Amino acid sequence: MTKVPELFGSMVFGDKAMRERLPKSTYKALKKTIENGEPLDESVANVVANAMKDWAVEMGATHYTHWFQPMTGVTAEKHDSFIQPNGDGVIMEFSGKELIKGEPDASSFPSGGIRATFEARGYTTWDPTSPAFVRDGSLYIPTAFCSYTGEVLDKKTPLLRSMERLSAEAVRMLHLLGETDVTRVATTVGPEQEYFLIDKDLYEQRVDLKLCGRTLFGAKAPKGQELEDHYFGSIKTRVAEYMRDLDEELWKLGILAKTKHNEVAPSQHELAPIFSTSNIATDHNELTMEVMQKVAERHNLVCLLHEKPFKGVNGSGKHNNWSISTNTGDNLLSPGKNPETNTRFLLFLAAVVSAVDEYQDLLRITVASAGNDHRLGANEAPPAIISMYLGDDLDALVHSIINGEDYHSHKAARMQTGVDVLADFKKDKSDRNRTSPFAFTGNKFEFRALGSSLNIACPNYMLNTMVAEELSKFYEELKDAENLDEALKALIRKALTEHQRIIFNGDNYSEEWVAEAEKRGLLNLKSLPEALSHFMDEKNIALFEKHNIISRDEMRARYEIDLETYCKQLNIEALTMADMATKDILPSVSAYIRELTDTALAKKALSESLSVKFELDLINSLTEKQEKFAQLTDELAEETAKAAAIEDNLEKAFAYRNNVFAKMEELRELGDSMEAKTAADFLPYPTYTDLLFGV
Ligand code: ADP
Ligand code: MG
Repeated sequence: MTKVPELFGSMVFGDKAMRERLPKSTYKALKKTIENGEPLDESVANVVANAMKDWAVEMGATHYTHWFQPMTGVTAEKHDSFIQPNGDGVIMEFSGKELIKGEPDASSFPSGGIRATFEARGYTTWDPTSPAFVRDGSLYIPTAFCSYTGEVLDKKTPLLRSMERLSAEAVRMLHLLGETDVTRVATTVGPEQEYFLIDKDLYEQRVDLKLCGRTLFGAKAPKGQELEDHYFGSIKTRVAEYMRDLDEELWKLGILAKTKHNEVAPSQHELAPIFSTSNIATDHNELTMEVMQKVAERHNLVCLLHEKPFKGVNGSGKHNNWSISTNTGDNLLSPGKNPETNTRFLLFLAAVVSAVDEYQDLLRITVASAGNDHRLGANEAPPAIISMYLGDDLDALVHSIINGEDYHSHKAARMQTGVDVLADFKKDKSDRNRTSPFAFTGNKFEFRALGSSLNIACPNYMLNTMVAEELSKFYEELKDAENLDEALKALIRKALTEHQRIIFNGDNYSEEWVAEAEKRGLLNLKSLPEALSHFMDEKNIALFEKHNIISRDEMRARYEIDLETYCKQLNIEALTMADMATKDILPSVSAYIRELTDTALAKKALSESLSVKFELDLINSLTEKQEKFAQLTDELAEETAKAAAIEDNLEKAFAYRNNVFAKMEELRELGDSMEAKTAADFLPYPTYTDLLFGV
């Protein structure tokens, strides 16, 4: 294996390649665009394009593609070769214009009714802040995607806008505090990615996994995760080889893959990168998910990114570690040694607390999906109620501020191991709280409610925008203050007092919390339709319009797309279930009943005195279940047809949730109980034992 430092970023047109291959003036102009957001001249783009192409061709590329993130939930790419006719041959060419702008036919991408299909034109625009890279023989150029008339049709544009807005608001605030050397502020993200790995041959035999990414039937295996022996357990050779291969592929693409380990559920794992700016973290996370799936194929494995592939064991999420740091190298969410006198930290903390409280609905909405509906609210992921955990130390500080009392820090203690050969070390100031959806973890917040397959652009643009808004309001209150120190203290106290209901340090899984949260007036939006009902609230529209992130119409489009996607996914699941029930489960139960009948008859033929009680009891019980199962299958088809016929997307989504999904649950329960009673040879699909313990 090539040494990691040489391997790292070898397929990326990053700073090193740019410095080596661009004339100094071009390099400088491009750097200004990347670092300060200054517009790029076309003549500069021409030089960059040519150098990029030469580099890409050397790396084996024959094509280039504008790579973008439409509202489908997956990335999109269309490849063009570099060839240009030249005499009776070709040369490889790539212009600045081709680098900057692409025109994919946008008619088949979801637009939520923003455009009619005859207005098919869409544009992709190069995002120079995220480096281009070579993969599978193509030069990938990260781009933003909008319609001919300028409406935003992707996830990247609002994210980039939100980063600029937060930067502008934070810089203005820091200047007011006297920190005039700061000129830019960036949001940083480190997404921890959970996933399942299962054997490909088994996967191929499960139509539900192939069409829906999750099992729709499947009786519990005798063993689940109860022994807690998988979490951080020794990694099996086949999985370790996969992880090693994956790390190498990610490193080549300049992705800072850092941590890997087994997760709680059998066959479940996690990969965490070192954090980067939100924009790059988003592109890298999208790439990571794609590479994870591709590398799995090479190992005859399948990587499942669905939020809940298996009932009865944990599902998969993605922890979005988020912070803000200045171009002078300071993390604005770092409390330092003396948080009680660190006004800057307290001010930014107050802004985040206010934002999470005021826009708890948006945070809940942004993680809503058909897949995540299986996790949020169930006893494994954070609950559907958004609250914040600050840890004992910070919580005590916040309360002393609210109550105007003195604060006594629990100075970080030393951990005495009591064993001579083990070094003593400094303890963290507070323990962790695994149940909180939004937890302070030392110098960053960890938003834990994301589903594993989610594009992290959405939660991050919402988070950035809502914090920008709080900073903007704070600035208005502070800018004309006669005594800034006094005004700051009063503002921090007021904000924390007004929004303290969002802070909760206890067990988020407990019944008491649900009741307590309701008393506090916190929202408990249990499913996607319930959450989405709040998206178009005037306060949310005002937020995004004020900061020029997305317009009312673009929000409406996103709202319709999210509801439509949810309905389509549930529709596919319901149809797949009915299909499995009719074509596989019912016939297999019949075959087994037939086998039992044959056995009973054979026994009787052999000797009238032989007991056939076992066969008869089972035949009776299975027949009864089978009849009910067939009836439920018909009912599911009826409910699905009824839901599909509803025009209004919200009403339709509720019908899928309340009627179709409820019926699916009933059908599954019965199907699973038949599976538990059927002989292995008659089962139409690999079982949970095969799937979860098959690698
Ligand atoms: P955990 O113990 O929570 O599982 P991990 O090491 O798996 O921790 O993940 C923590 C993540 O937080 C990493 O991706 C790390 O790079 C990221 N992180 C650390 N500091 C910051 C920061 N300032 N901003 C954003 N993310 C950060
Ligand atoms: Mg982790």
